[in-house]
Amino acid sequence: MVTVADLDAIREVAASVDDPELPYLTIGDLGMVRAVERHDDRIMVTLTPTYTGCPATEEILADVRSALAAAHIEAEVEMVMSPAWTTDWITASGREKLRAAGIAPPAPAGDRPVVMLDLPVECPCCNSRRTRRLSDFGSTACKALYRCEACREPFETFKAL
Ligand SMILES: [Zn+2]
Repeated sequence: MVTVADLDAIREVAASVDDPELPYLTIGDLGMVRAVERHDDRIMVTLTPTYTGCPATEEILADVRSALAAAHIEAEVEMVMSPAWTTDWITASGREKLRAAGIAPPAPAGDRPVVMLDLPVECPCCNSRRTRRLSDFGSTACKALYRCEACREPFETFKAL
């Protein structure tokens, strides 16, 4: 018999898997673990991919399956596309880890205009808002490259979605 505590423990295991593209964040930090549910005698773990087109989806599925297997948990893992993931699902600790890694976290939805304007991005090094976008794509499609005019440091920002 699977209890609610078991489902929570399974969620912990799934959430502790590192994101392949952002290895300082877990998929739990990114808010990708949508649901851990029991359907009859099966346990279903549902994940939502972050940016569509991020090629890491298959890798994440494989990593979660092997983490569950290592914990002797028998569960099915699948990706659901809807509702679509947004950067608002990134947890507070995930945002802190982004900042600590020198990446400006995405602005929360409340701070974001409905029309996409070029909002000033805060430098994760010195918190200056005098920053300039150098490129729409950083080391991955999920990030954009900026430079801080105050401390001259280039940095990446996680695009808000
Ligand atoms: Zn700076």
